[in-house]
This record gives sequence, C-alpha cells and structure tokens, in this order.
Amino acid sequence: MITLNETHDPALRSWVVSANSPTTDFPVQNLPFGVFRRRNTTEAFRGGVAIGDQIVDLAALSSAGALQGLAHTAAQAASADKLNALMDLGPQAWSALRLGLSRLLREGAAPPPALQACLVPMAVAEFDVPARIGDYTDFYTSVHHATNVGRLFRPDNPLLPNYKWVPIGYHGRASSIGVSGQQFRRPLGQILPPGATQPVVGPSKRLDIELELGVFMGRGNDLGEPIGIEAAEDHVFGLCLFNDWSARDIQAWEYQPLGPFLAKSFASTISPWLVTMEALAPFRVPFSHPPEDPQPLPYLDSAANRASGGLDIELSAELQTPAMRKSGVAPHRLCLTNYRHAYWTVAQMVAHHTVNGCNLNAGDLLGSGTLSGPTSDQAAALLELTVGGKQPVQLPNGEQRVFLEDGDTVALRGWCQREGAARIGFGECVGTVLPARV
Ligand code: CA
Repeated sequence: MITLNETHDPALRSWVVSANSPTTDFPVQNLPFGVFRRRNTTEAFRGGVAIGDQIVDLAALSSAGALQGLAHTAAQAASADKLNALMDLGPQAWSALRLGLSRLLREGAAPPPALQACLVPMAVAEFDVPARIGDYTDFYTSVHHATNVGRLFRPDNPLLPNYKWVPIGYHGRASSIGVSGQQFRRPLGQILPPGATQPVVGPSKRLDIELELGVFMGRGNDLGEPIGIEAAEDHVFGLCLFNDWSARDIQAWEYQPLGPFLAKSFASTISPWLVTMEALAPFRVPFSHPPEDPQPLPYLDSAANRASGGLDIELSAELQTPAMRKSGVAPHRLCLTNYRHAYWTVAQMVAHHTVNGCNLNAGDLLGSGTLSGPTSDQAAALLELTVGGKQPVQLPNGEQRVFLEDGDTVALRGWCQREGAARIGFGECVGTVLPARV
C-alpha cells in the first residue's frame, strides 16, 4: 500500500495559479491522468494531467525533455492516444511521473518557458475514453444497494445468502462506454408490462442512473496466476466516476437466471480524469465487515485491507431537466453518498476477480456497483430513491421525476476532503438521455 510522501504535502502550491483555489478538484496534490486534444481540431488525442484549470500535455512535456529516467519513460508512454502503455508500466513508473510532475509544477520551481508551453486550458479541450478497455466487469459492492433493490424484487428475501461471502459481479460491455458529455438514446427492449403474461418491445420507461466508481487496471496478471490481495493495489492504476445507466424494466424481465444483459449494455459514462491510488493515499480508511457478518475468506483478507482498504470519497449525483435548463434552474442534487460504505474493497475486487486464474489486462475497467449508503438520501439510483417508482423525486421548479425522461442530464461528482490533507476531486461525469429511436 502506498505511503504518504512529498507529493501529498498539503502546504504545496503550484505556479499554475488556478490550482491553488480552495475549490479546485485539481490541486498539485492530485495530478490525475486523462487523454485530450484541443476541441474542433484534428489533433491526435494524447495523455494529459489536470492541474487547476489547465492540462499538462504529456506528449509535449516528454518531447521537451523536462523529465528524466523512469518519469520520462512514463511520460513517453502517456503520449499515445490511450493510456494503456502507461498503465502497463506499473506503480513505480506512475509514481516517478507523479513526483516529477509535482516538482515541475509546484510553486518555487521556476517554470521554464518550455514547460508553460506544455499547458492547454481545459476550457478548450475535449476528452476521450482514456484507455482501450478490453474488458469491463461490474461488481455489486454496496450491501445497502443490494438490500434495497433486493427488497423491491423479493420483499421476503432481499439479500441472497451468497452476498456476504462473494464480491458479486458480472461481465459487461466495454464497447458502449463513453466519456463525460456522452449523449445516448433511450434503449429499446423487451418489457413485461405489469400484469401481462407476454412482453412487448418498446422504449424503456424506467431508465435509471447508477452512481459508481470505475477502477482502471494497471499491469495485469498471466492467465492462471491469481493476484493475491496483498499485491492487488499494485495492479490498480486509478479511479474515476462511473454512471452505469440502467433500464429497470428491461432488467426485471431479462435478469433471471444469468443476470443483467441489454438493460445495462446500451451506454455507460465515465469521467475523463483517472485519480491515481497514490493521490488517494491520504483518504484511506479502515475496512471491516460487521462482527455479526461472515468475515472475509483468507484470499479476501489482509492486515493492510483491514487497516486501510477503504476509501473516503464523497459522491453526488445531480439532475437537470430540459425545463430546468431552459429557465436557468440549477441542477438538483439527487443523493450524497460515500465510497467508505462499500461492503467490498478495491483490493478484494481484484483478488476475487483473479482467484480462478482469470487474467486482467492494463486498461480493463471494474465498476464498483451502485454506491448507496445506509440512509435513504444516500441511495445512488432512482430505483431506490423513489422506492421502486412509488415516491417521485420533487424538483425545485415543481417538476417530478420517477425515472429519467428524454433530455434529462445527470452529473456525478466526487471529492476527498479531510483535516491535514489537500482536498482533491474527480471532476464531473455528465450524460444526457436522447429520445428512443422510432
Ligand atoms: Ca452497475
């Protein structure tokens, strides 16, 4: 597990003035990675690092020869249009690049003109999915979400007996994952109307969000060689926000016995910036199962995971309808939750995924599952917030929502904050629902 070092020093400031704002998501202590280019150009996408309201162009930086050794190697790897090569280099290289960038960007370092020329304002940039995602696996790590949803489908048996033993997951589609700003059509599918015995085909009427975190894998493992829980986080590159849009009516009809399929695979949206595990080091929290619950089996247990396997990440979802947008009404917060409530940690997801010998690859994406907390205002999906569609969400302009309507925009946000550490954030993850294809 990563220990604190000079890059986390809360006293550090940057000569990039906007990075010193108390409200920025991207102070010099964060340094998250993404891929970008200037909007409305045919420039190649390349790796970048967020600092305040600017992006450090890693392709330009590595050409400028501003970094040495392993940090230079890592910046070169990040010059490509996807970050897979950087992810494959492993934690020593990621850390060397972070340290090199921190030293170049901090106040007191005289910024060479060549370095200033490597900055691109975020306001003129567009982003792409930062990795070639070979495989996407979605977990189900919130016991609160699993219980709330289970209660709607099976009132007398909400939580299935395997839940507290197995980090439940399924394999999703990588092809339909898009970056923040994604607009997608309302999906069509088979739906069983209430009381009917035969399904109809039509647009989903129960389109929902899932507020999750995405986990991008670094260097993978060979087929047949599990990743032990002690080493699991060495294989994790970083985290992003993840909205795993879901069609509840399609899901309810199709999910038995093999789990979600077309109810989930039409679109998922990630935030452009990947916050590294090193940047998250000040925000580790202890992890445990309640004493009355089954304790993790040995391959899912370690002293480090118990001491600091959890992450204190605040997460919110906001909704803005077309009418709100038109009349300038600010987005309405649907929920505020925290990743520390998860029942399984990042390390446990990786250890479990590979215990059978399954090989993960750099750039693979793991979803945390909907991160609902213990109270009803921490429910991270409309299905839960509206109690299965029975209690509409009241919006500030008098509108109501049970599920998403056409034109609705949802923005996820995430941030970490505590005494003695610089506040860091994830930026935002925005997606908009378009009408179904006729
Ligand atoms: Ca999901």
